[in-house]
Amino acid sequence: MKADPAVQRRLLDLAGVDAELARVRHQRRTMPELAEVADGEKAAQAKRDAQVAVQMQLDDLDREVARQEKEIDAVRAREDRDRKLLAGGTVGAKQLTDLEHELATLERRQAILEDDLLELMERREAVEMDGKHASVELAKAEEALAEANRRRDENLADLDTNESRRDAERAKILPDIPEDLLALYERKRRQKGIGAALLRARRCGACRIELDRREISRIKETAGDEVLECEECGAILIRTPESGL
Ligand SMILES: [Zn+2]
Repeated sequence: MKADPAVQRRLLDLAGVDAELARVRHQRRTMPELAEVADGEKAAQAKRDAQVAVQMQLDDLDREVARQEKEIDAVRAREDRDRKLLAGGTVGAKQLTDLEHELATLERRQAILEDDLLELMERREAVEMDGKHASVELAKAEEALAEANRRRDENLADLDTNESRRDAERAKILPDIPEDLLALYERKRRQKGIGAALLRARRCGACRIELDRREISRIKETAGDEVLECEECGAILIRTPESGL
């Protein structure tokens, strides 16, 4: 294939743009902010779960407290009734003994229930502290996640800008390159990742391999408008004064 050397050199511009586009695509997939967002989401979810668990504990304790209070009220009501009967002075001796006995039992029962209630309230207080701690932790995790999201979006916006600039550059270069040369370039690019490279200081810019003496002298004898390909990697080799020929 033949192409004017100036046209061939235009392929280097195209290869430069394509390398940049490949870099943008690679960054889009591998930017560290993606992992940061994923980690941040996981961390925030763990903190949300912790908060839900604490809330469930609190709800359970609240139910227990309510039950305990209800029981204490019932015991107290019974005590009040017994005391009223005792104070009324209308009960017989046998009933009096029974009532006094029952009242003593009820008082012991009430003391135990009140101790239990106190213990429940203390547990509730401790769990409530856990809940406050969990809320602070969750807020921190959500803030970190928002920050990671913001950094990722910022990076994505930069990449979008870069990509559309390169797309515009590419569109400007394409009309300068004949169809057959462009087709060859695209085929090489699909196969090897790099379609065209500069021959610089006797080295292929795509595979970095130094061409041997025999190949260099062959290239030297080849007309400037002949399209060359690297023997090693197949990329289109572009000659310029930097080529060291
Ligand atoms: Zn090569």
